[in-house]
Amino acid sequence: MSKLEAFLAGDRLDDVALFLTHEYLDSQGKLPNLGEEVENGYVLVVDGDDGRRAFAAGTGMDAMEFAQQATGNKSHVERDLGGGECPDSAPDENHQTRFIFAFAEEQNDGVGGLYERGDVVHAYAHCTCGTDYSDRWVVGAEDETGVQPGEDEPAEAN
Ligand SMILES: [Zn+2]
Repeated sequence: MSKLEAFLAGDRLDDVALFLTHEYLDSQGKLPNLGEEVENGYVLVVDGDDGRRAFAAGTGMDAMEFAQQATGNKSHVERDLGGGECPDSAPDENHQTRFIFAFAEEQNDGVGGLYERGDVVHAYAHCTCGTDYSDRWVVGAEDETGVQPGEDEPAEAN
């Protein structure tokens, strides 16, 4: 199982995952060797502290501040963290995902809701247009929780 697969399965709760475009990684030299290639870039799965540092270095933003800023705006993020659907996208515009920051949270019966169902992956995305958005889903129920492709509300809200 790759690091990314393990992260997506909820087996790397102390790590964070970063999706970064080829453009960013090309400018950073050796980082591609650490990542896994996805459609439009790379996903790196690294220790939480290293990941937050890499995120700050690459984006000029604090990861948790970015997450807070993105959290109120729900939209679909691909379950392999390879991109997402910008909520502000229009047919003739370019809305590529510039980066994604994700972490996983352990199942927690005390919190209830999604957290009772299993480990939860939180993903925060930034679009080239400047919009931030977020999605979260339960490991093992990726198609039943969080925002599904083409939708604008989390499936569990219905
Ligand atoms: Zn956009």
